[in-house]
Amino acid sequence: MQRDVIVREVGLRDGLQLVKTFVPAETKLAWARAVAAAGIPEVEVTSFVPAKVIAQFADATEIAKGALKIPGPLWCVLVPNRKGAEFALDAGIRKINFVLSVSEGHNQSNVRKTTDQSFDEFRQIVELKSSKPEWKDVVLQGCLATSLGCTIEGHVPPDRVLSFVDRYLSLGADEITLADTVGYASPSEVGNLFHHAIRLAGKKPVYAHFHDTRGLGLANVVGALEAGVRGFDASTGGLGGCPFAPGASGNIVMEDLVFLLEKEGLKTGVDLERYRAVRGIAEKALPEEKFYGTIREAGLPKGFTPPSRQEAAE
Ligand code: ZN
Repeated sequence: MQRDVIVREVGLRDGLQLVKTFVPAETKLAWARAVAAAGIPEVEVTSFVPAKVIAQFADATEIAKGALKIPGPLWCVLVPNRKGAEFALDAGIRKINFVLSVSEGHNQSNVRKTTDQSFDEFRQIVELKSSKPEWKDVVLQGCLATSLGCTIEGHVPPDRVLSFVDRYLSLGADEITLADTVGYASPSEVGNLFHHAIRLAGKKPVYAHFHDTRGLGLANVVGALEAGVRGFDASTGGLGGCPFAPGASGNIVMEDLVFLLEKEGLKTGVDLERYRAVRGIAEKALPEEKFYGTIREAGLPKGFTPPSRQEAAE
């Protein structure tokens, strides 16, 4: 199916990094299978961070290898350093999302490195990738956390964000993600920043990662769409947050994102009916977590058939 917009499920990564309940590997993989069955094209399935930092991801290799056996989505993982990338490449992963924060203070709390040190890790990952022919085509996504504000430093200057985009591109990033990690942004700020980032990136895709912490998540999606963004992260029921950004709860809700896009006539390829199973698995695994989402509660408007489903029926 032709997709107008790529939606990336991050529930198994961003969604799980804050929760106290450990989710067993078999449940994570059942969750991944349900995501694949719903037609999600890309999934951030785990994070290669040291287990002593986030115990939830102690099983990262098992999850990455298990997910790669499930047909359908492009299985991506998050890494904060070269070591993590090496584990991911050894597991056979074909897309790596490297993360650093634009805010110096947030980067220190999150990965205990200066931003210069983080960029050096990224440079080493690019080198590592070219060290084996079978890794040559692995996609490296450069993610910039706190691109639209930071709970430690407050305002983050857009010029600094754009200089970081430039740095990623010149080091060899294949794609860029700008993240509003703590939900500070408004649609016009988003529109402005992404407009310039897309011009810098040229043919390389620029993705958006929004948190709904202050209720502007979907409004910011519209701001990003108008700037030309065609890739968005979201999680089931809006699960997610950053352990070093207090109060930063909730990615945008996948079900609501898909509804917004489809209602605007943009095909995602996602089957919302089938996606219900993802939410079911997550709710059962995490009984203490709060789940969000309006489509789940209210259902689709009467007589509305998402364009993706129309095409599937033809
Ligand atoms: Zn996030």
